[in-house]
Order: sequence, then structure tokens, then C-alpha cells
Amino acid sequence: MTINVAERLTRDVVRAGICTGCGACVALDATGRSLMVDTPFGPIPEFHANTELPELAWKVCPGKGIRYAELYRRHYGQLPDNWLLGCFQAVRTGYSAVPEIRQAGASGGVMTHVLLHLLDTGRIDAVIAVRQGVPEPERARVVLAVTREEILAAAQSVYIPVSILDILSRLDPGKRYAMTCLPDQAAALRQLQLEGDVRALAVKYVLGPYTGTAIYPAAIDCYLRSKGISRGMDRIESLKWRAGEWPGYMEIRMVSGKLFRSRKFYYNFLIPFFVTQNSLQSVDLTNEFTDLSVGDAWSPRFESLGGGHSVMVTRSAALETVVREMEARGLLVTTPEDPMRALEMHGHMLDFKKRGGFIRNRMREFFGHKAPQYDIRPERLPRSRILVEGVVSGLFLFGSTRLARWMVARLPETVIGPIFNRLRLTWKALSKPTKRKALGTMRMQVVEG
Ligand SMILES: Cc1cc2nc3c(=O)[nH]c(=O)nc-3n(C[C@H](O)[C@H](O)[C@H](O)COP(=O)(O)OP(=O)(O)OC[C@H]3O[C@@H](n4cnc5c(N)ncnc54)[C@H](O)[C@@H]3O)c2cc1C
Ligand code: SF4
Repeated sequence: MTINVAERLTRDVVRAGICTGCGACVALDATGRSLMVDTPFGPIPEFHANTELPELAWKVCPGKGIRYAELYRRHYGQLPDNWLLGCFQAVRTGYSAVPEIRQAGASGGVMTHVLLHLLDTGRIDAVIAVRQGVPEPERARVVLAVTREEILAAAQSVYIPVSILDILSRLDPGKRYAMTCLPDQAAALRQLQLEGDVRALAVKYVLGPYTGTAIYPAAIDCYLRSKGISRGMDRIESLKWRAGEWPGYMEIRMVSGKLFRSRKFYYNFLIPFFVTQNSLQSVDLTNEFTDLSVGDAWSPRFESLGGGHSVMVTRSAALETVVREMEARGLLVTTPEDPMRALEMHGHMLDFKKRGGFIRNRMREFFGHKAPQYDIRPERLPRSRILVEGVVSGLFLFGSTRLARWMVARLPETVIGPIFNRLRLTWKALSKPTKRKALGTMRMQVVEG
């Protein structure tokens, strides 16, 4: 019996647990009756009965996998010289020269300032970004921002999954947009553009964060329970993931007036318990299909300087021109960065994606689960690296159990936060030789067919 595309996506991607919640399939429902629905484990598509999706919806779905080599060749006209960074024009470190924008941003406010500049210079009519607090404080949504205030209000990172591409069905192909995307969304958007989708082609600039890990919304409830607040007792008034001085802290204000703040590296203890499947299966840290990707400039020098520093990678001539113009006008403070030095700032996370991601996907298949299929794979994976991944995956597997989540909700964050941070640093130091071994020279093998 042949099944249609919506049924195939439902069976092989959504129910298989590998849907990234990007929203591309919903945008391709010509009837407009399918939609993305929130679940405690992120957004998933809900197809209207008898929905007829085009084959394109299957082709672009990042959950079932991305044909990276094909996409590099079609989008950039070549495979990357550096498989950790992808194709790029220039690498810099920097921040917005406007203190309010720098402070409003997650790291250096670079993405927000570039979006504002694109609007100010008439290059775009609107920005598609993500905003925490819409429609409720603990939720987040894609928003269409047409004013400076709206773009500023969407500054900051949102670490829970948000579907973005479903908004394509609401775009006016006669207008020009800039969009912020996570790596899976940027790859799906590029494929739609290459197939001539007029709404996708209206997106003229794609910006996106480096993307290590995101957590499921259920983590927020768990965090509050660890503070002695259960549902019904109190309500969240506002939530910020990166409030205050860089690197920032998670800040939750309750209707009752209670205020909870946790340093970024402390609330990271939620990651092993609530990390999204997308974070585990993605093999792209630096958002390789954006025009500009931005991450935190993690280095002892910048961390001691404080204030907020970003690492910025331009990947198209058009965005490189925009950045140069902003530099010339004194809007961005930047320093050219050696690409290899910039990569060192993210060594562990690069390894987590570029080797760990492939190993985890193969482990899923070994245990009979579906996993995304990519047309590239690392040329050589040291056996010691596979063993390290066994330990990491074991921890994530345990963390995802009800028992582990029940336990962590009962441990005060003042105890588990510092313990987790110490364990994280110790594990990083111990696994560093194995994880960094041959990482810098890593190459991918293209799996044709
Ligand atoms: C889920 C996630 C994981 C990350 N992991 C890492 C990491 O491992 N290492 C690292 O160096 N950096 C990581 N970052 C990036 C980092 O948090 C900052 O976003 C980045 O440094 C840009 O800072 P900025 O001050 O220039 O951005 P800002 O000026 O704050 O602008 C951010 C823009 O991105 C949009 N945005 C925020 N969240 C999302 C989202 N979920 N989806 C789409 N658009 C969004 C906002 O609406 C805003 O327009 C991650 C970001 C996210 C969202
Ligand atoms: S990953 Fe995206 S395209 Fe694939 S099923 Fe999920 S929402 Fe749809």
C-alpha cells in the first residue's frame, strides 16, 4: 500500500521521534489546514485529515536527514574546505557598538544590530525572529517584526524549540525578509529556495546562532519544582534565558513577586535531563547555511573582559558587505579572527556535533530506531571517541527517564548547579585529549547515492 507524504512524515519522522519541529512541511500544505502544535517536548506538525503534501515536503524535511554534500554544492557551488566551519567569507569577533543593543543581546548583540541595520537601510521590509514570552511567558514563538522596537524585543537566545518555517505560508512574496534560523531550519529553507519556493525566496537574509543544545519546555517546570514551586501554586510572569551581564543568567519572575536567577553554567544542569533529540542528531554547530552565524566568543580573554563578545561568521558576499558597512559606520566593533582560533573557542561542542552526532545517529539505528540520514560521514572515527560517546549517550539516556527527571526536580539548584558545573569541567578536561584528537584536521566522506 502506498502512503502519502503526510503519512510518511508522521510515521517515519514524527512518531519515530526525529522531527526537529522546523515547520517546513506545514508551510507546504496548500490547503493551509495543517499546523504546528506545542507539546512538552517541542512543536510537532499536526496534518489535517487527507492532507496532500507535495513530495518536496519529504525532500526538505531535516528530521529525516539532510543531503549536506548536495546542499553545499547547490547553495555554495562547492564542498567546504573546512568541515567544522562550513563555507565562509570571513570570521571575526565583535559586538554591537551601541551599549543598549549589546546588553539586550545574548552575547554581543550582533544579530539584533545587523537585523536593525538591514531594516534601517531599506534592504528588508520585515524581520522574522523568535521571541520568548509569546503567547505566554514560558512559551516562545516566531514573530514578524516590522519596527525597531519589535526587533529589539526579540533579542536574546531562546533555548526551547520553536517552529519557524511554518510562517512561510504567511509571507508576502512581494516583500523582502530577514529570518533567524537554527541549523536544521536554515538547511530546510535553503532547499526550499533552491526548489524555487517563492515564499522562501522572499527571505533575502538568513541569520542564525551557533546551536549546541536546546532543552525541552518541560525543563522549565522541573527547574521551578527544584525551587519548591509546583504548577498551580504560582505563575511565571517573565522568563529570560540570558539576562544581565554576559554570559548572563536565566531569570524567572513569578506573579507572586518571587525572582529566580541562575548563572548560565549552573542551569546547564538541566541539559542532560531535557536535551532535545534535535540537539543530539544535528551535525551542524556553526549554522552553516546562514548568511551570518553568530556564537558566544568563549575564551578566557573575552570572559575576563566581560560586556558580551560574539564570534561572527559571514557566509555570503551580501552579508559581508553589510558587516563591512556597519564597521565603517562605527556600528559594530570587530576584530578579524583566524578561523582555526575561532574554532578552538567551541572545540567540545564541535566534537559533540561533528563526531558525536554521527555516532549517536548510528547508535540509534543499531538499537532499531530511526535516525536522520546524511550524505556525509566522518572519514575516520577513533575507537576511543566511540567509547566516550557511549558514556555520554548513556548519561543522556538515563537523564531522559522519568526517575532521573523526578530526582533532579527534587534537588535544590544551589546544590546540583555547582556540582554539575564541576562535573562538566572535570569531564571536559578528562575527555579533551580523546575528543580533540585529530578534530582540527577532520574530513568528511561523501556517501553518494
Ligand atoms: C538553542 C540555542 C543554542 C545555542 N548554543 C550555542 C552554543 O553551543 N555555543 C555558542 O557559542 N552559542 C550558542 N548559541 C548562540 C548564542 O546563545 C547567541 O544566540 C549568539 O551568540 C548570538 O548572540 P547575539 O547577541 O548576536 O544575538 P542577539 O542579538 O541576542 O539576537 C539573537 C537573534 O536570534 C533570534 N533567536 C533567538 N533564539 C532563537 C531560536 N531558538 N531560533 C531562531 N531564532 C532565534 C532572536 O529572535 C534574535 O533576533 C545558541 C543559541 C540558541 C538559540
Ligand atoms: S522536521 Fe520539519 S519538515 Fe520534518 S516532519 Fe518535522 S516539522 Fe515537518
